[in-house]
Amino acid sequence: MAELLKGKAVADAMKEELTEKITALKNKGITPKLGILRVGSRPDDLFYEGGIKKTGDSVGLDYEVYSYPDDVTQDVFEKAVKEVGSNKEINGILMFSPLPKHLDEKYIRSLIPVEKDVDCLTLGGAGKVFADDQTGFPPCTPTACMEILKHYQISLKGKKVVVLGRSLVVGKPVAMLLLREHATVTICHSRTENLADVCKEAEILVAAVGVPKMVKSNFVKAGQTVVDVGINEDPDNPGKFCGDVDLNEVEPVVEKITPVPGGVGSVTTTVLCKHTVMACELQNR
Ligand code: NAP
Repeated sequence: MAELLKGKAVADAMKEELTEKITALKNKGITPKLGILRVGSRPDDLFYEGGIKKTGDSVGLDYEVYSYPDDVTQDVFEKAVKEVGSNKEINGILMFSPLPKHLDEKYIRSLIPVEKDVDCLTLGGAGKVFADDQTGFPPCTPTACMEILKHYQISLKGKKVVVLGRSLVVGKPVAMLLLREHATVTICHSRTENLADVCKEAEILVAAVGVPKMVKSNFVKAGQTVVDVGINEDPDNPGKFCGDVDLNEVEPVVEKITPVPGGVGSVTTTVLCKHTVMACELQNR
C-alpha cells in the first residue's frame, strides 16, 4: 500500500511557522491583513472563505471580507477593488472567480496591485512566477503541491515529472515551480497522444485535469509519487468528493500518493495566509 501524503501535517507545520512570524510582526506594530473580495454567494466560494477565516484565526492573521450582490455593476465593483487595492492596511487580496458574466473580469483583475496579488490573479503576478521573481506569488494550489513535496522530502532535482493539465491556475504554474526545483517537466493535456504511457514514464505525477478518477492503474507504475490536485463530486458516492486519480486503483500500485480529500486541498488556505504574510513583510521592508 502507498504512503498517504496527508495535507494536515504539512499545514500544521506551516501554521506553526506562520504564527511565529505574525507574532514577531505584531510585536513591531504591524498586523498582516488579507482582503477577500466576493461577488454573490456560491457555496464553493463560501466554503473556501470559511476555511480561510478558520486558518487566519488559528495563526492570528487579520482579514476582511468585502462582499457584493450577484448583480453588482462594473462601476461599483471596480471602485471597490481600487479601494481595497489602495487600502494601506490590506497586504494581500483574494478575489473569488469566475466573476458573473456581466463583469469584465480581465480588466477587474488588472486593478489588483501586483504586490498584493497573493493568488496570482494578475498578468504581472503570473509574469513574476514565470520569471522566477521571488517577490511574486504563485497561485495557492500549485504552491500547496510544492509544500507537500518539500514537507515529505521528495527530491525533485533531475527527476522526471509529468504534469497532467495545463491551466493557468494549476498546470502551468506548477510546472514552472517544479522547473525551479530542477525537475525535468513534461506537461500533458487533452491532445496529448498515448497519455497513459507518458504518465507511466514519470517518477512524480501531478494530476490536475478536473475529470473524476481519470487516472487509472494503467497510468502509473511502482515507485511513483502521485499528487492529486483534483476536487470533484464523486460520481459513485453522491455528496462526497474524489480526486482526478482513482485512488482505489492507483494506491496499491504507487509508492506515495496525496489523498482526496485530505491532501492538496487542505494546504491551500495556509498557503494563502503565508503569501499574505510574505506580502506584508515585503511591503514593510
Ligand atoms: P481546468 O482549467 O479545467 O484544466 C484542466 C486541464 O486538464 C486542461 O489543461 C485540459 O486540457 C486537461 N484535461 C481535461 N480533460 C483531459 C483529458 N481527458 N485528458 C487529458 N487532459 C485533460 O482545471 P483546473 O482549474 O486546472 O483544475 C484541475 C483540477 O484541480 C480540478 O479537479 C479542480 O477542481 C482542482 N482544483 C483543486 C484545487 C485545490 O485546492 N486542491 C484548486 C483549484 C483546482 P486542455 O487544456 O487541452 O483543455
